[in-house]
Amino acid sequence: MFETLTQAPGDKILALMGEFAADTRTDKIDLGVGVYKDEAGTTPIMSSVKKAEARILAAGKTKTYLGIGGNKGFGSAILDLSLADAVDRSRVRVAQAPGGTGSLWVLMQLVNRARPGATIWVSDPTWPNHKPIAENAGLKVATYPYFDTTTRGVKFAEMLAALDKLTKDDVVLLHGCCHNPTGANLTNAQWDQVAASLAKTGALPFIDLAYLGFGDGLLEDAYGTRKIVAAVPEALVAFSGSKNFGLYRERIGAAILIARDAAQADIAQSQLLNVIRSSYSQPPDHGAEIIRVILEDKDLRAEWETELNAMRNRMIRLREKLADAIRAKSNSKNFDFIAAHRGMFSLLGLPNSFVEHVKAANGIYMIGDSRINVAGIPEDRVGDLADAFIAAIG
Ligand code: PMP
Repeated sequence: MFETLTQAPGDKILALMGEFAADTRTDKIDLGVGVYKDEAGTTPIMSSVKKAEARILAAGKTKTYLGIGGNKGFGSAILDLSLADAVDRSRVRVAQAPGGTGSLWVLMQLVNRARPGATIWVSDPTWPNHKPIAENAGLKVATYPYFDTTTRGVKFAEMLAALDKLTKDDVVLLHGCCHNPTGANLTNAQWDQVAASLAKTGALPFIDLAYLGFGDGLLEDAYGTRKIVAAVPEALVAFSGSKNFGLYRERIGAAILIARDAAQADIAQSQLLNVIRSSYSQPPDHGAEIIRVILEDKDLRAEWETELNAMRNRMIRLREKLADAIRAKSNSKNFDFIAAHRGMFSLLGLPNSFVEHVKAANGIYMIGDSRINVAGIPEDRVGDLADAFIAAIG
């Protein structure tokens, strides 16, 4: 039977990882892969996570099934963290899912059950996995204007004009904060306008919240999500605990739905649980239990927030240092956008020839669209990076 198949396209980021590993230069720099790295270039387990794991190991009594919706304490802790009191909980339902990706997956399946073949509008550009997940679910994908390659900010007027034209049959995917791949984000005033547009058109907001706490702070990064869910009757949120809890391989996320009223929320949730049951039956517990233990314990939560703040501040410091170094060396403010961007990534908005040049000449690896992971910048190499970027631009 397999003779009917042809080779599926490979993953570009994984291919780049392989290329980086094979590069024998000792001064090579990896700005490609999308995981947080500390000053030593590693992605360690957070201390709050280690402590929660020790407690779980000591207290664990059973490995019996968790249930289709997953860990209930985790679910309500994530609602508190992401939505707080922005919307009445009687209209909100949550199901644990494997990572932000699993959450996107089950929610897109739910959308397709509600509106088969609906169009989901994604930002141009967006995280490359959004499109295949949506298409796998049966949805159509279209784009709205987002990144301005001249200013490296958001083309807000064009974005809003596109959103204003949508109808109640459309779905709009928004990055709740820390846009991937661009690093360019909406201001609070712009979120207010997006919320008003969605309330007017009736298009369904679908928020991908994969980096809560990686931008300006837990509260600041939740502004857009909370504003939108407060403004509209229905919304979806896919939360990921991969980045902010450093739990990448535990595959922990939450699929959140907000319906018009409690009765519709119950029906939608029954469909969501039905999607899960027929996909992977139930989620794994470990990552969810870690997050539950941390968020429910005052001391562990404080420790986690301190660790998260340190990660965020390191990324902001690296952004400022790189922008400062390029400005000092080239006398140009053209790269100041790196300091203005937030989250783990910045899209430099430069051609692939630039990307290939710095890889060949300097051993600096980034994604082909010129996305850099700022957490991958070694602090003592900022000057080298600035020199390489300036030389490559010429
Ligand atoms: N959404 C976005 C925008 C992301 O960048 C990522 C991770 N790269 C995810 C969702 C999914 O994260 P995960 O499945 O690893 O939790």
